[in-house]
Amino acid sequence: MNSLQTRYINQQRELGHATLYRAPLTGPAAAPEPPSAPPIAGSRSERLGALQERHRGCLNCRLGNTRKKFVFGSGNHDARLMFIGEAPGADEDEQGLPFVGRAGQLLTKMIENGMGIPRGEVYIANILKCRPPGNRDPQPDERAACTPILLEQIAIIQPEFICCLGRISGRFLLGLDDEVKLKEMRQKFYDFQGARVSVTYHPSALLQHPDWKGPAWEDLKFLMKAMGLVIRPDLK
Ligand code: SF4
Repeated sequence: MNSLQTRYINQQRELGHATLYRAPLTGPAAAPEPPSAPPIAGSRSERLGALQERHRGCLNCRLGNTRKKFVFGSGNHDARLMFIGEAPGADEDEQGLPFVGRAGQLLTKMIENGMGIPRGEVYIANILKCRPPGNRDPQPDERAACTPILLEQIAIIQPEFICCLGRISGRFLLGLDDEVKLKEMRQKFYDFQGARVSVTYHPSALLQHPDWKGPAWEDLKFLMKAMGLVIRPDLK
């Protein structure tokens, strides 16, 4: 990270702790729990840790038999902003962490160099927790089996803002059918359980289509303005 980037991140921090984080949460669980599962109580970290332990051996769909590692999510449990992608790829499957391959490195640049937020201060997760073979699109039955985990993560973290990465994540959060295109979802805010949701390109798509990076940056600026973050003058 160069000095300009460091100054940018510090500038965002000077806007105040509350700009990047939600208040720590204590007390009883507010998230709806499946009837068969005992309630998870405690801080956000305790509840997320318990949720991860509960599901790390999940075999509720076919992907449980082909994964190497369960990829729960990572980042700040009190984050104000959550990014939601589609599913782990090969690198994520190896490491058990979301967005660590080439697309993940681009996402890190978008968050840190573009938005001026250290990646560790947001929370990142996917619709699916196990890798679909060959990185194919998640199947409807896989989404149905897996998304209750994501919904519990959202209910625990209670982010103020969610940024969906790609059409699959956007369609799920917005409750849209498979015909709706990404361009129809961008540059708008939607409500999802109290969070303001926006949609932009998946970093993998930006690697394949570098000319989409400009529109993706417009999407991030749209989000930053709503969050009250400053936009570096040379990036305006
Ligand atoms: S993708 Fe989700 S539902 Fe399927 S096995 Fe993995 S954790 Fe379970």
